[in-house]
Amino acid sequence: MLPPRDLLAFDRDHVWHPYASALSPAPTHLVESASGVRLRLRTADGDTCEVIDGMASWWCAIHGYAVPELDAAAHAQLGRMAHVMFGGLTHEPAITLADKLIRLSPGDDLQHVFFADSGSVAVEVALKMAWQAHAAAGLPRSKVFTIRGGYHGDTMAPMSVTDPVNGMHTLFRGVLPEQVFAPQPPGGLDADIAQWEQQTRALYADHAADVAAVIVEPVLQGAGGMWIYPPQVVRVLAALARDSGALLIFDEIATGFGRTGTLWAADRCAVVPDILCVGKALTGGYLTLSAVLCTSKVTEAVSAEPAGALMHGPTFMANPLACAIASASLDLLGDDLLDRVNSVASVLDSSLADARDIAGVADVRTIGAVGVIQLDAPRDLAPAAAAALDHGVWLRPFRNLIYAMPPYACTAAETTQIGAAMVAAARAVAP
Ligand SMILES: *Cc1c(COP(=O)(O)O)cnc(C)c1O
Repeated sequence: MLPPRDLLAFDRDHVWHPYASALSPAPTHLVESASGVRLRLRTADGDTCEVIDGMASWWCAIHGYAVPELDAAAHAQLGRMAHVMFGGLTHEPAITLADKLIRLSPGDDLQHVFFADSGSVAVEVALKMAWQAHAAAGLPRSKVFTIRGGYHGDTMAPMSVTDPVNGMHTLFRGVLPEQVFAPQPPGGLDADIAQWEQQTRALYADHAADVAAVIVEPVLQGAGGMWIYPPQVVRVLAALARDSGALLIFDEIATGFGRTGTLWAADRCAVVPDILCVGKALTGGYLTLSAVLCTSKVTEAVSAEPAGALMHGPTFMANPLACAIASASLDLLGDDLLDRVNSVASVLDSSLADARDIAGVADVRTIGAVGVIQLDAPRDLAPAAAAALDHGVWLRPFRNLIYAMPPYACTAAETTQIGAAMVAAARAVAP
């Protein structure tokens, strides 16, 4: 293996990173291994240091790393088969996982599971289900209705329902389908939504006959801005969808599996969608896998002639290795899941209180195992990330947001350290 300095140099010259310039990439850290809630980093000089992963690897590694139960599931499945095609074949890992997902899912109506490769593809599939369902009924509808500030993935259809500004729709004008965006709802679980509701109902009325689906991340918008909004907003959107014959899609790729303090963000809304997308934490962060659950109403509509089938089938659909690990990860959620999430939540809450008084901090908010410090304007946040690393915590702040979504496996001391690192990060970029 090349020495760390050469690995990093090759990486800089040849390997593209997410949302990064290939010509002048931001400094990138070499991870040697990970276990528990810690990443072992290696500097160019070959020194190692351990840091707590405040991001849970983009919100996926809810149990942490090198989890014995997940490692065991992976090894056992490797001994049987890593992969086999899903067209015309099936296997126990997919069947068991589908059964568990159906049982865990909100309500009793989500009875059908479509496995896909990633969150973005799950959203593609959900939207195709909605478009196909209307087309099969002989009443094609072209639009998707959503709220500003959302994030639904990076492939084309998900990008089209991601916030037009954050999602840089101007870059893709003429290429992306144009969807209908209601205003971003007011922030906070108990905010007054009267004005938002009035504007949204009026906008919806203009498009109702052509709306195939309404899609939202319930209660917490993730990558679009870590924005917490009232469950009542979701109920209004659900009613608009139902009254106009549109399908309701919940994108719980970020919020699912306890992240916001309830098993599903949908639970806070007391609404069961027609279609539910899950991903990210599904495999405990081991492999990429997502699932789309839907009601029998949706499967019946989509399976009608002329298509007679959902026109989607990824090569790695229901990858057995990923399914086996996901199944083991769901078993680890356990009866005390929400207790664990809520202990992370209360420590984040108290350790972020100090951030309110820092210059340039506009808002501090938490929901479940999510902590957010919002700055009053976008800044160069490289010094913030560096300050967090100095405090032994890996964070990846973006735009005007310093946030953490730690593994649920963090102890109170580790969560306190994450909170302190976020506060230090905010201080490091105070004007
Ligand atoms: C991350 C995310 C996606 C996209 O998932 P990928 O696996 O990155 O394609 C979609 N929706 C939400 C809400 C997400 O947080």
